[in-house]
Amino acid sequence: MQKIRLFTPGPTMVSPEAMLAMAQPLDHHRTSGFRDTLKDCVELLRYVYRTEATPMVVTGSGTAAMEAAMLGCCKPDGKTLVCHAGKFGERWRDILVRFNLPHVDYEKEYGQGFSPDEVAAKLKEHGDITAVIFVHSETSTATVSDAQGIAKVCRDHNVLCMVDGITSIGAIPFKMDEWGIDVGVTGSQKAMMLPPGLGIVALSDRAWETIDSHQAPAYYNDLKMYRKSMDKWDTPYTPNNQMVSGLKFTLTQIKETGIDNILANTALLAKATRAAVEALGLKVFSDAPVDSVTAVCVPDGVDEAQWRKDLRGMYGIHCAGGQGHIKGKIIRLNHMGYVDAVDTVGAIAALEWTLAKQGYKFEAGAGTGAFGKVIQGT
Ligand SMILES: *Cc1c(COP(=O)(O)O)cnc(C)c1O
Repeated sequence: MQKIRLFTPGPTMVSPEAMLAMAQPLDHHRTSGFRDTLKDCVELLRYVYRTEATPMVVTGSGTAAMEAAMLGCCKPDGKTLVCHAGKFGERWRDILVRFNLPHVDYEKEYGQGFSPDEVAAKLKEHGDITAVIFVHSETSTATVSDAQGIAKVCRDHNVLCMVDGITSIGAIPFKMDEWGIDVGVTGSQKAMMLPPGLGIVALSDRAWETIDSHQAPAYYNDLKMYRKSMDKWDTPYTPNNQMVSGLKFTLTQIKETGIDNILANTALLAKATRAAVEALGLKVFSDAPVDSVTAVCVPDGVDEAQWRKDLRGMYGIHCAGGQGHIKGKIIRLNHMGYVDAVDTVGAIAALEWTLAKQGYKFEAGAGTGAFGKVIQGT
């Protein structure tokens, strides 16, 4: 028997209480009970997103919600600026390519974020852009972009601002209405502390105007169908109702804890982890490290596959590796959701023990010590 602790930035750890909230007897979804639960979820999601829009809950992962938003908002008669510097940004580019949607590719190196000035320059260069897509927290490189600043640039240029908020919403500051974001997407298995299976997308009035101006090449992912049903707190197709119950449960916990407390806790875990990494003589990957997940560079002489295998096999710590051309070069540790300082100091200790096993030299306890200092504020 082994106790597995998921330190992957999705899926993240799920509490036993949340699992139990989904283990209730199955009821039918065309009932007032389900409609009440969905309505409660929408109200709680408005709190997390800081929006008055109506977030839609779709069955599928975050990619399904993003594809739905893209097919509605990225039109064949306009161009989408797609900013990518990692695996997830590349996925949104690939969707545009797959559906033959006109776009401008804006690629940067892995580990770099996008700035408002850079996006403004691209918008000036290409006058026919009607929407901008970027990843707020690029999970594959653990890098943040300035969503507030980019949203303002989009407003100034009157183009839609579409944000992959899958590891930002509920993890780092995200203010949909105040910042003027048009599309905000997330999924259940990151900061929402649930298994994979739900995608969530909130859309501004401006985004709906675009969606309403044409027929998206989608059926299951047609957001107009979702909106029509949501008017009656219903879904167009059979929903994952057990997970919707789970969503109400975890969102209620988020509301009771207070979103600002959750963001502060995530930031503190990230800060303490970065301090531990440096104390061990390791490097944090990324020019703009995000607080939802930390990417640690694999030091010379350490075999990444063996390192992660030992972390999981010997100590039950499941970390993510790198993707694309940084595969083998980094490992990633999650700070979102149902994870605390005691879990994380355990992961840091396991990092130390497994690094020592490979002959990496450092002062034993340096990582856990530095971590503790940040947590205790000493
Ligand atoms: C997890 C994740 C996604 C979506 O992945 P799914 O496999 O569809 O859940 C997209 N973007 C980011 C930044 C992510 O972290």
